[in-house]
Amino acid sequence: MTKTLTTYEAVTEFGKKLKTLTSLKALLEWDQETKMPSGGVEFRSNQLEMLSGLIHEKLTSSELNNLLSPLIDMDSGDLVDSDSLDLSQKAALREWRKDVLKAKKLPDRLVKEFSKTTPLAIHAWAKAKEENSFEIFAPHLEKIIDLSKEKAQHLGYEFSPYDALLDEYEPKMTSQKLTKLFSEIKPKLLDLVKTHSKKIDSSFLYGDFDAQKLMSFNKELLDKMGLNKDFYRLDLSNHPFCLSMHPRDVRLTTHINSSDLVAGNISAVIHEAGHALYEMGLPIEHFGTPLCEALSMGIHESQSKFWETMIGQSFEFWEHFFPTLQKLFPENLKDISLDEFYKAINIVKPSFIRIHADEITYNLHVILRFEIEKALLSDELKVSEIPEAWNDKMQSYLGIVPKTFSEGCLQDIHWSCGLFGYFPTYLLGNLYAGQLYHNFRKTHLDYNTKIAQGNLLFIRDYLKKNVHEFGRYYSQEELIKNATGETLNPEYFIQYLDSKYSTL
Ligand code: ZN
Repeated sequence: MTKTLTTYEAVTEFGKKLKTLTSLKALLEWDQETKMPSGGVEFRSNQLEMLSGLIHEKLTSSELNNLLSPLIDMDSGDLVDSDSLDLSQKAALREWRKDVLKAKKLPDRLVKEFSKTTPLAIHAWAKAKEENSFEIFAPHLEKIIDLSKEKAQHLGYEFSPYDALLDEYEPKMTSQKLTKLFSEIKPKLLDLVKTHSKKIDSSFLYGDFDAQKLMSFNKELLDKMGLNKDFYRLDLSNHPFCLSMHPRDVRLTTHINSSDLVAGNISAVIHEAGHALYEMGLPIEHFGTPLCEALSMGIHESQSKFWETMIGQSFEFWEHFFPTLQKLFPENLKDISLDEFYKAINIVKPSFIRIHADEITYNLHVILRFEIEKALLSDELKVSEIPEAWNDKMQSYLGIVPKTFSEGCLQDIHWSCGLFGYFPTYLLGNLYAGQLYHNFRKTHLDYNTKIAQGNLLFIRDYLKKNVHEFGRYYSQEELIKNATGETLNPEYFIQYLDSKYSTL
């Protein structure tokens, strides 16, 4: 064994310890949303502060730097002994260097303060949402925005502080690129809403559904999608999410919104399962290195949206699953045809809640948040002005105005978690998914027959082969080009929407 390889193994060993520490943080975050008694929040914030500090310390330690330096020049990024490394090792070193340099820009104090602040903010947000009081959340949000601005200053940016935050979730993406991309598709989306909005009876989707029956239906779905029972848990939380400790231990949550059968529950489960399959499909042999990590949140979201909407809201999917659902909930569904059900779950109708929105209006919800975040970070908007800005944009994009904060600017957990720059990845995810779906259908010409038979494993395998198993080996642009033959082209998503909804 050459010396270089021995050293590469030493970095991987270090990486495994670091990932183990990071997974403990994820476990505490999962626990906070699913099991922790509310009285534990102050102590949890201390625990997370301590763990984040330790993770940051390790990532910026001279020990890691000394392990990396013989392999890659930390200043220039040039590999020291390129010939003795294989392509994966080279890619891993490139990504490790990026992570270390980025972490070193952030002072320890700021990392800890962020981690201490967010659990309290999440707690305040949940209370604020429940009591419909923006005032309860506003001071926490102000603090998080100040910390985010400070973080952006440390990370550095060319044009806007928002870019530095965006880069955390979608590397190399900038607000300029997004503004251009979103302004191209916004008028097309507004047109699609106008063209495809219809009044269809969907009253049977609302009611008081038995939580246990729903959860058992969901578990059957997850099984069909190819999630190994031994590798995940499905629990209830305030806001559905997916957290991964390791490709063999992934935590999914959903919520029981008893009033809305599909959008309020089943869709959320399919969505989070799409995320879970990505985490489970990462190359486990590279655990501890960046190659066993998700590429970007946009790519992550492409996986959940692919499953949730393109597959989970398709006719062929429900050809297989509707009879089971009908038997579970006969009081609502026994007189409903598959066709009526399919149309009802795909109604295009402006609504208040992003995660329950249809496939078309959903994207306008995301653009609204992107515009507000950008304005907040560049001091064009104050926290106290958010509710008004929110309502103005809702009126202008969707023609409706929420009557409560809970249905408006307090609906999402993200800002309380400090996730500024995250929302745009939801729309990018749809765009990536649209392009992948186009390619998927060309690759599997009999896809609808298979899906109608309840055979979904080939979908998981297509996504694994084209996305999951590369981890961070490629950039988003390279990944999409390799999978589909073209760099990101938003037209695929727009065409997908137009052609699907023209038949409804
Ligand atoms: Zn998601």
